[in-house]
Amino acid sequence: MATGGGTFSLDDEYPDLSQHNNHMAKVLTKDIYGKLRGKSTPSGFTVDDVIQTGVDNPGHPFIMTVGCVAGDEESYEAFKELLDPIISDRHGGYKPTDKHKTDLNFENLKGGDDLDPNYVLSSRVRTGRSIKGFTLPPHNSRGERRAIEKLSIEALSSLDGEFKGKYYPLDGMTDAEQEQLIADHFLFDKPVSPLLTCAGMARDWPDARGIWHNDNKTFLVWVNEEDHLRVISMQKGGNMKEVFKRFCTGLQKIEEIFKKHNHGFMWNEHLGYILTCPSNLGTGLRGGVHVKLPKLSTHAKFEEILTRLRLQKRGTGGVDTASVGGVFDISNADRLGSSEVYQVQLVVDGVKLMVEMEKKLEKGESIDGMIPAQK
Ligand code: ADP
Ligand code: MG
Repeated sequence: MATGGGTFSLDDEYPDLSQHNNHMAKVLTKDIYGKLRGKSTPSGFTVDDVIQTGVDNPGHPFIMTVGCVAGDEESYEAFKELLDPIISDRHGGYKPTDKHKTDLNFENLKGGDDLDPNYVLSSRVRTGRSIKGFTLPPHNSRGERRAIEKLSIEALSSLDGEFKGKYYPLDGMTDAEQEQLIADHFLFDKPVSPLLTCAGMARDWPDARGIWHNDNKTFLVWVNEEDHLRVISMQKGGNMKEVFKRFCTGLQKIEEIFKKHNHGFMWNEHLGYILTCPSNLGTGLRGGVHVKLPKLSTHAKFEEILTRLRLQKRGTGGVDTASVGGVFDISNADRLGSSEVYQVQLVVDGVKLMVEMEKKLEKGESIDGMIPAQK
């Protein structure tokens, strides 16, 4: 890995970002790079490590990427001249003095149990959590990663009731088992995404990676993918309320158990939960549905409707896939500055409206009067 500073001049080292379209490339002037290139965090993460994924991936076909990662909890402070403006651009003008909000009380969610299952095929809420005392996946050593896995297995095995489950290490399953879990949308993809590999997150794959899930696969925890932990609640159909309740309850249980093992989660008042990708700071929450919108998705105003509802679309095979047959993964666009409840509420209300629009279009009627004002 590059060390920054050293033998070569700033001009020699400054990356060519002229063809780039990601948040990092927009912010990283030669001046900022010059200020940061001699620095490193206590664990040895440099600005070159931060930006490598964004240098190697000029753009993405479906989403505007941030083009950088954190390697440890301190990265956000050490490289703030770069990361603060990126955070602001990615998170709607969020300022270095702003304070984040947390609300994991599922009772504050209004409705959410009546999304039409003829359109909404499945509902899911996920977040990431980073365990204090370790570096983050782009910077983990093998030993650290294995320690995180061991700690996670110990912690998760004490869950009970609805949450009782088992850990399945990646290197302990057959290819067929792994393919099936991916096809059923339970498991992270193989590390094929260059966003992941260029950030150093796929090193040593599949060592110390795995999935923990309860018996009916409605509560799942990914270990050592893009974040130390990804906590997921999901089920078929449109009952987002039930999904969110299980998400909040399970997550709080997990946090208590990790604390008992003397490892809290990385969090501060300004950034909320600290995660690997700056796009996930705050709640780290992506609440989404797989929803059939063949008509609305070909409507001229589809993009504008999504933007106004503060929603984001993906294909149903994950962030690197396009939509197939008019089925989309629709989820909240924002994670920082507003609470978990607020973000899931946007998804519930927004998806409900979009399904109503789809039904209107089916009848050959206009949806012009239904297009919302900017949130
Ligand atoms: P993230 O990284 O935000 O968890 P990805 O887009 O990388 O999401 O997708 C990870 C996996 O989760 C994919 O297999 C995807 O199909 C699945 N998934 C995401 N949202 C849903 C949903 N609402 N219902 C079913 N599966 C989903
Ligand atoms: Mg992903």
